[in-house]
Amino acid sequence: MKLTKKKKILAIVILIAIITSLGIHFTLNNKKEYTDYSYTEFLDKVDIGEINKVFLSDNEKITGTLKNGKYFKTDNPRTEGFKEKLLMSGVTVEENSGNTSIKDIGTFIFVILGFAGIAYFLNKNSPKQAEKEITKMSNIDDDGNNSSVITFDDVAGNEEVKESLKEMVDFIKKPEKYEKYGARMPRGVMLYGPPGTGKTLLAKALAGEAKVPFFAVTGSDFIQVYAGLGASRIRSLFKKARESEKCVIFIDEIDALGKKRRGGASGSGNDESDRTLNALLTEMSGFKGSEGIVVVGATNRIDTLDEALLRPGRFDRQIEVGLPDVNARHKILKLHSRNKPVSKDVDLGKVAYQTVYFSGAKLENLMNESAMIAAKRNEEKITMIHIDKAYYTVVAGEEKKDRSAISLSDKKITAYHESGHALVTKLVSPENRVTKVTIIPSTKGAGGFSMNLPPDKMYRTKRDIMNNIMIALGGRAAEEIIFGKDMITTGASNDIEKATDMALTMISRLGMDSESGLVNYDVLLGHNSGTNAHVQGRVKSLIDDQYKKTRKLLEENRDLLDKITNRLLETENINEDELNEIIENKETLN
Ligand code: ADP
Ligand code: ZN
Repeated sequence: MKLTKKKKILAIVILIAIITSLGIHFTLNNKKEYTDYSYTEFLDKVDIGEINKVFLSDNEKITGTLKNGKYFKTDNPRTEGFKEKLLMSGVTVEENSGNTSIKDIGTFIFVILGFAGIAYFLNKNSPKQAEKEITKMSNIDDDGNNSSVITFDDVAGNEEVKESLKEMVDFIKKPEKYEKYGARMPRGVMLYGPPGTGKTLLAKALAGEAKVPFFAVTGSDFIQVYAGLGASRIRSLFKKARESEKCVIFIDEIDALGKKRRGGASGSGNDESDRTLNALLTEMSGFKGSEGIVVVGATNRIDTLDEALLRPGRFDRQIEVGLPDVNARHKILKLHSRNKPVSKDVDLGKVAYQTVYFSGAKLENLMNESAMIAAKRNEEKITMIHIDKAYYTVVAGEEKKDRSAISLSDKKITAYHESGHALVTKLVSPENRVTKVTIIPSTKGAGGFSMNLPPDKMYRTKRDIMNNIMIALGGRAAEEIIFGKDMITTGASNDIEKATDMALTMISRLGMDSESGLVNYDVLLGHNSGTNAHVQGRVKSLIDDQYKKTRKLLEENRDLLDKITNRLLETENINEDELNEIIENKETLN
């Protein structure tokens, strides 16, 4: 009896495997639509760098992919130097001597093994349990026993983030210690920032330093077609985590399951992701924190996250992981050159300077591409020539070809814009504090930004607010002075919003405009003062006046504006002391 049952299962498994492999074969091959190029067309595309990869074969036609991902085919020249020409032009070449059938056999074996695994589980457990078991296994990447442990030494730059995470290492290692003092353990850390800035790497390093297992999942994996599956996956993830006692759970793209819920009636939102999110929140409140389990979430867009995720007891630590500045880029480049034969004439500091707005991942990619190019050319060392060539490959791989040129002019515009804000801040009132000026974009501001903390005071005076309007307009004013009326940018959109808001408040609610009187226009107009023509006219004229004053102030201090900008272009960051120094030096010069 038992034997026949097993045989039956085996037969079914093989049958399904055959059908599935055929399915995979056809879908894979059908997806590719090949554009046919003449050989000369093809060579033109090689020259302008549109070709990404070529598969060499002995067939009549050879195939490959364009940089935009599309497939093409063209005549096979079958000449000697063909491969070399491609390599020299930066095209990736793969030898592909008609091994599709081997691939198919591979798929077949793979599918058989997969199904055999399923059959094994079906035999072992009850069917329902098995299903859960599999989803859990396939989605959890358990690096716990991985030999290559990642530590904080593998992360360059991001010093503040590392400091913050180092504390967590201690929490994980000795939760009892903190419990004794009654300290509430952090359960979740939210890392947010642009892609490729090392969030995953940092989470792995946290686990590596604490010497605990690392469970990684991706938010979008949880959003399933089948109701309830996402939530059950969350539960099995935490179950598995608890089994290994201490650990780090990493949830990448957490925004996929923790998007802001639309308030109001049911049915509007996505019930399934709500359920998944609720399961996550429940699990997180469920553990005491004295267990040494830390959940690390990562997102590019913290502003879209459901607030419930960020409340105490959940992801109550939020750490920004920003793009690296020039120093950090230098460190990252050094780190990724560690095991590479880099020639002595390579100045990584200079490379760091040229790679503004590059993330850590892009820098890693740059060094890797350089190594590939040097290897293809059989050269002993990686030189500046290889890095330059790789630079264009990495940048072109992005979207626009001359992104580097664009970002260099972007850098200059941002530098003047931010210097404008910073200089106006200091000039209108020396009491004002500018903690930091930077041209590296943060997730909070579109461009770089400068922060100014007005001194602590009980009341704001009319002059304070007028000054703050000037500070807000300082960025645009600097742009207009330097680049001209037609070259002003969208970078000021936030500033204009702030200025308008301040002016409107002064006029409509604070009685600070003599022509408008001591009247609250919101009360008069039912919270719609902004729609009133008189108020609008006053707002516009007040902002116009402040803008003229701002321009004049900056024009009179053009030398300072240039100096601050040049410093920013060099170092990308200026702190308050450096800013004061530049401004004070001017006074002694006069
Ligand atoms: P994210 O999770 O923020 O998208 P990752 O951690 O996946 O970024 O980074 C991808 C790769 O880029 C890393 O594996 C590493 O090689 C490189 N990288 C990114 N940031 C850094 C950094 N600060 N130091 C060293 N390498 C980095
Ligand atoms: Zn601005």
